[in-house]
Amino acid sequence: MNHNLFETFAAKMQDRGTANFITTPEGAEYSYADALAKTERIAGALKGLGVNPGDRVAVQVDKSPEAILLYLATLRVGGVYLPLNTGYTADEIGYFLGDAEPALFVCMPASLESAKAIAAKTQCPQVETLGTKDDGSLMDAVAKAQAFTGIEPRDEDDLAAILYTSGTTGRSKGAMLTHKNLRSNSKSLAEAWRFTEKDRLIHALPIFHTHGLFVACNVILTAGASLYFMSKFDVDTIIAAMAEGTSLMGVPTFYTRLLQDDRLTPELTANMRLFTSGSAPLTAETHQQFEQRTGHAILERYGMTETNMNTSNPYDGDRIAGTVGMPLPGVEIRITDPEKDTHAPLPQGEIGMLEVRGPNVFKGYWRMPEKTKAELLEDGFFVTGDLALIDERGYVQIVGRDKDLVISGGFNVYPKEVEQIIDALPEVSESAVIGVPHPDFGEGVTAVVVLLPGQKLSEADVIKSLSGHLAKYKQPKRVFFVDALPRNTMGKVQKKQLRDEYKDIYS
Ligand code: ATP
Ligand code: MG
Repeated sequence: MNHNLFETFAAKMQDRGTANFITTPEGAEYSYADALAKTERIAGALKGLGVNPGDRVAVQVDKSPEAILLYLATLRVGGVYLPLNTGYTADEIGYFLGDAEPALFVCMPASLESAKAIAAKTQCPQVETLGTKDDGSLMDAVAKAQAFTGIEPRDEDDLAAILYTSGTTGRSKGAMLTHKNLRSNSKSLAEAWRFTEKDRLIHALPIFHTHGLFVACNVILTAGASLYFMSKFDVDTIIAAMAEGTSLMGVPTFYTRLLQDDRLTPELTANMRLFTSGSAPLTAETHQQFEQRTGHAILERYGMTETNMNTSNPYDGDRIAGTVGMPLPGVEIRITDPEKDTHAPLPQGEIGMLEVRGPNVFKGYWRMPEKTKAELLEDGFFVTGDLALIDERGYVQIVGRDKDLVISGGFNVYPKEVEQIIDALPEVSESAVIGVPHPDFGEGVTAVVVLLPGQKLSEADVIKSLSGHLAKYKQPKRVFFVDALPRNTMGKVQKKQLRDEYKDIYS
């Protein structure tokens, strides 16, 4: 049996025939049959360029239907798809190509020259370009190539992709994902979220992360549904798409931005059946406001590059704000004491390290055996680095990252607890609480606050208003006001950057 994930997709694509697979606001369109035929030709070109089963294909391109077809064609030839953030600079690309040693690097037409220089240094044998209009040297090669209609045989534990993590806590790591990892998770999610051929997903996420690539595209391919494929998030385009769309997968900032628009009403979202959120914590406030405005309870789920999705709020049943729901079928989770090596589960309700096991969990970090050994345990559990608790209803609450925990005077301070209280102040839009080196306390609790437009608040006001709500050791020693928190493309707050910025304030 061929365990190549593309076998599953090809069967569905064949079956769906002339049904729409992907449409862009600019008017590009592929039926499933057209998309399948094009993967044959791209696969032929990849073969001609020397991509053999197991070879990495590194890709740094803007979003387009052809970029998704390139991903599918890479699977088809048994290659390992390796997408890179379009924001990476030449130096960063140099690191990734040196690390991954791809057989082919597909870049944006505008960066061909620097890509060639990097490829020469890192001994990457082939460089091609892919533009957003079905153009670029790769598409020229596709036009001349002979179609490859086969599907290279793969085992379930062979690599389908290497995805680099977002680099929120340090240098990005390459997560090795197998055909089994991706297949099992897309099937679970399509079922859990009830995706069918009738669905049309409004796709506004980047496609170099697990959320936009695997959660979104693999689920659609598994269900035989269709994609409305936007080059980037844009409120007007999303609002216009909702009449025909049935679902939106978003990061929390999508929802806060939609909420700022008066056109967001129950009527506008009447055709939509599901809004999901992930990649970063959705505040209970946003969840509640969205439900009040539209009647839809956003379904929040939790996952990461290394594991795909682990937990999800239920489709039927309560979608509880501030939680990420329960483990998906086949996924086991446990909460353990991060201070101990025993990895024994803590009593129910206690905060600890979230560990996860299942067919969704990756094979290890690419060329990082030590790190893999430390985080992927012998019993198959992966140490996520996220602190969490399981509440009495069985719902998981993410408390924050282990690396963001503040230890002040020997006491643990969970930033989220402090942030929630600061965020509840009527003048405050949002906040980030960080630990900064402090001569007496080890780390000083420090708050970085964004005020709502036109509001005024002083450092002393914030500290004073917290005093009745929080134990002294949890109260920020300093409060700073900024216009906006630093965020990456997925809306993740960059606390490492904040810690660097404020590192000398107590010295
Ligand atoms: P790096 O591992 O390189 O530091 P990263 O962890 O941000 O970066 P990703 O794999 O893209 O890279 O993100 C996974 C992380 O995102 C999770 O470990 C978790 O901290 C966070 N996350 C994802 N979904 C949620 C959610 N619903 N609520 C809270 N946090 C979430
Ligand atoms: Mg991570």
